[in-house]
Amino acid sequence: MTGAIFFDRDNTLVKDHGYTWKISDFAFLSDSAEALAFLHSYKIPVFIVTNQSGIARGYFDEADMFKYNKHLTKQVALRGGNIWDIAYCPHHPDYPEKTDTIKCDCRKPLPGMIKMISYKWQVDLNKSIMIGDKETDIQAGKAAGCLKSFLIKRTESRVDLCKLIISKYFIEKT
Ligand SMILES: [Mg+2]
Ligand SMILES: [Zn+2]
Repeated sequence: MTGAIFFDRDNTLVKDHGYTWKISDFAFLSDSAEALAFLHSYKIPVFIVTNQSGIARGYFDEADMFKYNKHLTKQVALRGGNIWDIAYCPHHPDYPEKTDTIKCDCRKPLPGMIKMISYKWQVDLNKSIMIGDKETDIQAGKAAGCLKSFLIKRTESRVDLCKLIISKYFIEKT
């Protein structure tokens, strides 16, 4: 089984607007598009795991999010990258009505989304990396059993981080 790289979405790959779902708000953050193209050149599977409690809160609906994600995936592809799959958590414990859910196992810091993708795509989490902008992203990566999790700041180079990750964790050392 192969390892993969899991990314948070908002404020990691794209600009965050608090609740991010409008295509008119779409913008890559830092050099994330180049980083995704770089990973694709190494055929590394890339997944997104994203908390979208704006759905539970009623700020936007799943159709809005799917449209945004489709736009993101297309923009990534146009720049030479490839998003294999996107897992999302629409829930929030304080807003159970819209999603019929009080407690879920997918909202980060829980590892549900990463585990689901690992199962669906046969990804070896012992060889996988999680990258996000929040401590809860790191906690989710750890709880899922990822090899390593990286916190990244808004302006930091995603390309530099991905280059380090590839050389350290994905290229077989002899
Ligand atoms: Mg984020
Ligand atoms: Zn959830």
